[in-house]
Amino acid sequence: MGKDRASHPLHFATRAIHHAYDPADHQGAVAPPVYFTSTYTFPTIEETDAAAAQGGLLYAREHNPTTRLLEARLANLEGAEAGVVVASGMAAVGNLTLSLLSQGDEIVVHQTLYSNTMAMMSGGLPRFGIKVVPVDLADPANLETALTPLTRIVYFETPINPTAGILDIAAIAERAHKVGAIVVVDGTFASPALQRPIEFGADLVLHSLTKYINGHGDVLGGAVLGRRDLIEKIHGNGVRYLTGATISPMAAALVMRGLRTLSLRMERHGETGLQVARMLEAHPDVAWVSYPYLPSHAAHDVARRQMANGSGMMSFGLRDGFDGARRLLSRLRLITRAVSLGDTESLITHPASLNRARRKIRPDATLAPCVGDDLLRLSVGLEDARDIVDDLRQALAR
Ligand SMILES: *Cc1c(COP(=O)(O)O)cnc(C)c1O
Repeated sequence: MGKDRASHPLHFATRAIHHAYDPADHQGAVAPPVYFTSTYTFPTIEETDAAAAQGGLLYAREHNPTTRLLEARLANLEGAEAGVVVASGMAAVGNLTLSLLSQGDEIVVHQTLYSNTMAMMSGGLPRFGIKVVPVDLADPANLETALTPLTRIVYFETPINPTAGILDIAAIAERAHKVGAIVVVDGTFASPALQRPIEFGADLVLHSLTKYINGHGDVLGGAVLGRRDLIEKIHGNGVRYLTGATISPMAAALVMRGLRTLSLRMERHGETGLQVARMLEAHPDVAWVSYPYLPSHAAHDVARRQMANGSGMMSFGLRDGFDGARRLLSRLRLITRAVSLGDTESLITHPASLNRARRKIRPDATLAPCVGDDLLRLSVGLEDARDIVDDLRQALAR
């Protein structure tokens, strides 16, 4: 347990650096070693038997010491019993749903989700006889008509990608638990530094590690943290044979390096995010801004209860709508036009433009409810706030 043996409980930022690692167990290496191996041997056949019987280190699709450390650390930071780390955020969604749902089961989802989770819910799971029920969870009372005795999972994001809408975790969990459904929160937009859904009643938390947790835009990863019985199913069935979507130990080590500065980065993302959101809201050419820590946000009170700050994610629209969004994008000099989010550099995307372009190869591509033609999604990075504000100002100028 390393430095966690201290006599008093350590705080979040400290645990993000030290939890579950003791250099004394690794020849004094201060940075955790990266274990590059595909398989494991044991001194005796009896010890091999024991490893097989106990689900121990046998083969690296299932277990790797580097990945295990990341799993232990992330679970600790979320306040979860256990965790599993996989190759990407979508691998986390895939492992979770394929491990916990069977033909005939129902999953209730919030109507707006990250575009590829949306694609899985609308085009993927129904092919396997799983019923997907989209509802507007902005009013948790809407769950009453959506839940049935067959509902196994209630699944949503908060903050929501790409709108930065906020859903009330405690109110949703309370209703879902009455019918015995498992509550899954995708907390990618906040990271555990700002929001820990298990404290509000969630059973499982999902993250795209690609985003804030790694934070440097150079690696893919995903995680599910929460109840041990559920994590064991996702690990033992999902990762072992349903998807085999194991993360590489190098990627796990890079995510762990990013995690060391998560607290520090999220503080700055939140500070700059609020400054940028205020500037946009005050600009005459901006029609609306959705940022959880602006008092104008529809669920501002819930955001303040659930999150330590508003993070760096926001969406906004210009009075000139679709054309205005394209003009703004073409004029930016510093903020990078790219999908993904949570990086050190500021990233901006216009879902409606992407959607129109995609329809050439995928005619059925649609935008999620609440994602208008004018919506721009901005991931505020760690550049000097003045430079981000200046870039938006010059791009907005007529
Ligand atoms: C990016 C993202 C995912 C998918 O993660 P990948 O690592 O890109 O596979 C899932 N949920 C949300 C909210 C995301 O932003």
